Amino acid sequence: MSNVLFEGILYQYLNEYCNKISISKIIVVVDENTLELCLPIFKNRVSFDFDFIEIKPGEAYKTMISVQYIWQKLIDLEVDRNSLIINLGGGVVTDMGGFAALTYKRGLPYINIPTTLLGMVDAAIGGKTGVDFNGLKNQIGLIQEPLLVGIDPVYLKTLPQRECLSGMGEVYKYGFIADAELYQTLQSYKGSYPSEEVIKRCVNIKKNIVSQDLTEQAVRKTLNFGHTLGHAIESYYLTKPEAQQLRHGEAVAIGMIMALYLSHVKTGLPEKACREGQLLLKSRFTTPQLPEEDQKHIITYLKHDKKNRHDTLQFVLLQSIGQAVWNITVTTEEVYQAFENYQRLLNT
Ligand code: NAD
Repeated sequence: MSNVLFEGILYQYLNEYCNKISISKIIVVVDENTLELCLPIFKNRVSFDFDFIEIKPGEAYKTMISVQYIWQKLIDLEVDRNSLIINLGGGVVTDMGGFAALTYKRGLPYINIPTTLLGMVDAAIGGKTGVDFNGLKNQIGLIQEPLLVGIDPVYLKTLPQRECLSGMGEVYKYGFIADAELYQTLQSYKGSYPSEEVIKRCVNIKKNIVSQDLTEQAVRKTLNFGHTLGHAIESYYLTKPEAQQLRHGEAVAIGMIMALYLSHVKTGLPEKACREGQLLLKSRFTTPQLPEEDQKHIITYLKHDKKNRHDTLQFVLLQSIGQAVWNITVTTEEVYQAFENYQRLLNT
């Protein structure tokens, strides 16, 4: 498992590492927003020279076209195999910058400095990199860990409220799958901005899981709680005008509401825990109506989920709060029942 370092020690380590004469070039990948809001902070804290590559922000640009753009810029900057890529941004920048680094000249080392809450607690850690393809989430990619993940909550100061809340979607996920105590804390938690202690707790859960199962053969699958439906919902919403699109964590929150129902009917999650969890998520996140027509489209996307095996839908579900199980086969009929339960919840 690669190192995860927090502010202070992070820059000390980074400066020592990056000032090594053996590194020929350092390239920082940013998007339009992190260029303006995060790169000046980063520049102030480091003592080495670098070039930067700027990509367009948002999920709609997490594509091979952007990766090709990064590759071309790397060629223009004459980046060789002794160079280093540093991704400074949210999950889109770290997923895509990591993928571009791992594929350029058969692989450059990379470092992730996440600037969103979602990136800090989840996306930047664990080496999953890649892009969406033909409207399907994360279809093309590689798993290889970064040299280092550096977490500095200073970057959260400029993060819009909605993006912070999207990151909270993953924070709730950790409570559901692995940490009943964290889940209890989150019940009374009102803000969209968690403490550094909560961030560290999530980082440790992710590190612990990834260190046991980097390539997602078993326990790493639990990190996909809410994501099976969440990714399908996110993909479907990506086909709508930008103003209507959902953030990753928002789609995952809806996916978790439905996964809680399925956990109750299939893996014995007590009704009270299911209901409490659903109401908690409903009170914190945007929960759009999903009429039958939308449900059909979402199910089409669901069939492309990477966890599916031999034409069956595979879910991560809960036995209790803090205890997840994986490879649970769910039928399309049961997914429709979960939609029905979701729609009922919206009307209560
Ligand atoms: P994002 O990278 O699109 O960032 C959200 C928005 O915030 C963007 O507009 C970005 O420019 C802006 N932004 C970033 N940092 C900022 C800052 N400090 N101040 C102001 N604005 C800032 O999205 P995200 O929510 O960070 O990540 C979502 C992506 O992560 C999805 O593509 C998802 O699939 C992926 N993901 C990957 C993993 C993994 O294990 N690799 C895990 C979870 C999610």
